[in-house]
Amino acid sequence: MSLPVSPADPAATAPPAQVADVIVVGAGPGGSATAAWLAKAGLDVVLLEKATFPRDKICGDGLTPRAVRELISLGVDTDVTAGWQRNRGLRILGSGHHLQLDWPDVAAFPPYGMVRRREDLDEVLARHAQACGATLLERHNVTGPILDDTGRAVGVNVKLMDERGRATGEKAAFRAPVIVAADGVSSRMAIAMGREKREDRPMGVAVRAYFECRRATDDFMESWLELWTTDDHGNRILMPGYGWIFGAGEGLANVGLGILDTSEAFGKTDYKDVMKRWVAQMPAEYGISAESMRGEIRGAALPMAFNRQPAYDRGLLLVGDSGGMVNPFNGEGIDYALQSGRVAADVIAQALARETPAERERVLRSYTTILKDSLGGYFMIGSQFAKLIGHPEVMRLATKYGLPRTTLMKFMLKLMANLPEERGGRFDDRLIHLMTRIVPKA
Ligand SMILES: Cc1cc2nc3c(=O)[nH]c(=O)nc-3n(C[C@H](O)[C@H](O)[C@H](O)COP(=O)(O)OP(=O)(O)OC[C@H]3O[C@@H](n4cnc5c(N)ncnc54)[C@H](O)[C@@H]3O)c2cc1C
Repeated sequence: MSLPVSPADPAATAPPAQVADVIVVGAGPGGSATAAWLAKAGLDVVLLEKATFPRDKICGDGLTPRAVRELISLGVDTDVTAGWQRNRGLRILGSGHHLQLDWPDVAAFPPYGMVRRREDLDEVLARHAQACGATLLERHNVTGPILDDTGRAVGVNVKLMDERGRATGEKAAFRAPVIVAADGVSSRMAIAMGREKREDRPMGVAVRAYFECRRATDDFMESWLELWTTDDHGNRILMPGYGWIFGAGEGLANVGLGILDTSEAFGKTDYKDVMKRWVAQMPAEYGISAESMRGEIRGAALPMAFNRQPAYDRGLLLVGDSGGMVNPFNGEGIDYALQSGRVAADVIAQALARETPAERERVLRSYTTILKDSLGGYFMIGSQFAKLIGHPEVMRLATKYGLPRTTLMKFMLKLMANLPEERGGRFDDRLIHLMTRIVPKA
């Protein structure tokens, strides 16, 4: 990479800036995918990450076929010999029922999902971006955008960190005509550019821990639909959300639960306590108990249904959690981070190939439209679903009467994991596409 020194920005106190075609902030799945695709397109891309790999990220580590497809397109080796735990479907437990469903049999998606600890996954993806030609700079904590006098982001300021995550006191600056914020749910970049969270979108909270147990390998990802808490009067309340047990290999299972903010119990509930009580009632043969827990229960937020908008404005594109792209149906965000990274990279490559600033801007603006066209209707239906199951009675009836109906549950799996056939397909595939087309876009 060439890093010519540019004249210092008058507004910035940082040293002279290094220059690239694109700066990507954050090397989670979204940022690494964006950087890899940009490098493949021949662009000079700098990927700035505040942490040092390997680093943990609080997550369920689950990859549905939608995420696997993105990894395959990106050129990541997903063979089992490369350390991936594959699975063939979802096991669902609730209201005394037990159902095992294979992932949908469609041409558009591979027939398997995977689990990989984020400690590994994120490093694999960051190294992949490097191998594709991106310049990965770890321990580079972005403190904010550098703006030109029109308010457009033209670079970023950085403070350097040491291996323990403490600031070294050194500073740096980077400039590029396009910046990508892939800095996760708290997105300092998006906030600095005025893109606050929308309150009309669902939000989730999820907690998880690792357990050394017999469920470390499993052909199915397991999902428990009944999570209970108690209200102020001691009444039991069914929470809108689900618990999961994902075999992560190497003797460990990732066990956790995610809950939506659409019920009254949200915010008043101790989720770690709900998790402890859930774990305590698991069958002994799972080997999952307080004694087999490794590390702590840790939690984080799930920003859903494009809760920061617009996805592009004034030189800054939002990718993944920074743009609130978690699926409200099931809490998955890795696949949408990978997908938005792919779309962002394509739009940027096209924009930078245009001759005039006005043409470039028009192409960059299309990022928002492309994302809304492909996911806006789906996220809107997901948001309505989240509102509906926020009523404990609806959740109870859905579990009681839905689970025994295998055909309905197959449809729900296709809908909730967003795995319809993309061209042609059966009646249920076409129904999902029709539904997502006719509703307003999120
Ligand atoms: C408990 C829990 C369980 C979940 N389970 C699943 C699951 O099983 N499957 C699934 O698909 N999704 C799951 N999700 C959602 C998923 O974790 C996120 O949607 C996904 O990580 C989004 O990827 P991202 O690249 O956008 O952001 P992140 O993965 O958050 O990556 C952001 C990166 O930016 C870096 N960064 C942040 N600020 C700065 C800065 N100022 N300067 C430089 N770098 C910075 C961070 O260090 C990080 O590396 C879960 C979430 C939670 C909380």
